[in-house]
Amino acid sequence: MKDTSARGDRLHVLVTGGAGFVGSHLCAALLAQGHRVTCLDNFFTGKRDNVAALLADPRFTLVEHDVCEPYEADAPLDRLYNLACAASPPRYQADPVHTMMTCVLGVGNMLALAERHGARVLQASTSEVYGDPAEHPQRESYRGNVSCTGPRACYDEGKRAAETLCFDIVRQARLDVRVARIFNTYGPRMQPDDGRVISNLVVQALAGRRLSIYGEGNQTRSFCYVTDLVRGLLALMEVDPAPQGPVNLGNPDEYTIRELAETVLRMTGSASPIAHLPIPKDDPARRRPDISLAARHLGWQPRVGLEEGLCETIAHFRALRDDRSSVEVDGPVRWRQFSGMRQRAGSLE
Ligand code: NAD
Ligand code: UDP
Repeated sequence: MKDTSARGDRLHVLVTGGAGFVGSHLCAALLAQGHRVTCLDNFFTGKRDNVAALLADPRFTLVEHDVCEPYEADAPLDRLYNLACAASPPRYQADPVHTMMTCVLGVGNMLALAERHGARVLQASTSEVYGDPAEHPQRESYRGNVSCTGPRACYDEGKRAAETLCFDIVRQARLDVRVARIFNTYGPRMQPDDGRVISNLVVQALAGRRLSIYGEGNQTRSFCYVTDLVRGLLALMEVDPAPQGPVNLGNPDEYTIRELAETVLRMTGSASPIAHLPIPKDDPARRRPDISLAARHLGWQPRVGLEEGLCETIAHFRALRDDRSSVEVDGPVRWRQFSGMRQRAGSLE
C-alpha cells in the first residue's frame, strides 16, 4: 500500500453515487477542501441537478458509469468514497438483482480500481446490516438479525457481503479501507419521490395530503442531518490509524414514526390527516446507533437536532413543490422500474 498522502493536501477523490443525496453533499465538501473530485453515477436515483452547481468548477468531473462495470480513472486516484447504491427501500427493492450486484460486483470493481491506484477507500455501509435488531442501541460488535431471503435482503445482505469483501482485502494488507455504518440520514437534495419516511411525510404535509404511517407508527428511527454525516465520513476517511472495523455514523436521538409525523405537521403548519398503511415485511422495529466508537476514534458527534434539520429540509421541499407537482404523494410512493436497469440486471442472472 502506498502512502497517498505524500502527494500533499490536494487529492484526487473519486465519489461513486456522487450525484445522489449524500454523495452530492460530499462532493461539494471535498471541493470546498480544495480537492479534485470525480463523480461517478449511473443516475438510477441520483440527479444531474444535484451536482449542477459543481459543474462550473474545473476540478469537478461528472462521469456516467455503472459500478457493476469495471472502471479506469483518467488520473491517479488518492481516495475513493464508494456510495453507489440506492438507499430507499422502495427504490432498492424495485430492481433487487441490480441492488445486490451493485453491492457486490460494484464494490469488487471499486476495490480493484483502488488497488490499482493505491487509493484509500471508504465504503458506505448501513445500519441495515443489523436488520431488525435484538440489541439496542446497536454497537458495531452486534452481528445483526437479517433475513437473507426477504424483500430487504438485496440491500442488507448486499451491504454485508460488501463489508466482507472490504475486510478480506484489509486482512490481506492490500488496501486501506474504512467502513461507515450509516444510520438514517436526511436533508436537502432528497428527491420528493425518494420513498423514505422524512421525504414522504414532508412532501405529503406540504401538499395537504394524508401522511402515510406504516403500521401504528411505534417503530423508531434515529435521524442524522446530512452535514453531520458528511463531517463524519470525511473524518473517518482521514483519521490515522484506520479503525480496526466498521464505525457507526448516525444521530442517537430516537423518535417513533408517530412522533416524527407530529413534528412534521407542527413545523409545516399542515392540517393533513394521518393514514395508517400496512407495515412492510421485515421493517425493523427500532434503531439507534451507539456512536461511542466514532466519538472516541474520530472525535465526531452530530451537532444538528431534528427540528433544526427538518427546518432546512422543509425549506428544500417547499422550494421544489411547484416544480414537482406530478409526484404521487398520497400513500406509499410507488416506484417505477427503470427498463435499462432491468436489462442490465437480467443479463447478470
Ligand atoms: P441515493 O439513492 O440518493 O444515492 C445513491 C446514488 O448511487 C445515486 O446517485 C444513484 O444514482 C447511484 N447509484 C446507484 N446504483 C449505482 C450503480 N450501480 N452505479 C453507479 N451509481 C449508482 O442514496 P443516499 O441516501 O445518498 O445514500 C448514499 C449511500 O449511503 C448508499 O450507499 C447508501 O447505502 C448509504 N446509506 C445511506 C443512508 C441514508 O439514510 N441516506 C443510510 C445508510 C446507508
Ligand atoms: N415509513 C412510514 N411511512 C412512510 C415511509 C416509511 O411510516 O411513508 C416507516 C417505515 O416503515 C420505517 C421507517 O418509517 O419503519 C423508516 O423508513 P425509511 O424507508 O425511511 O428507512 P428504513 O430505515 O426503513 O430503511
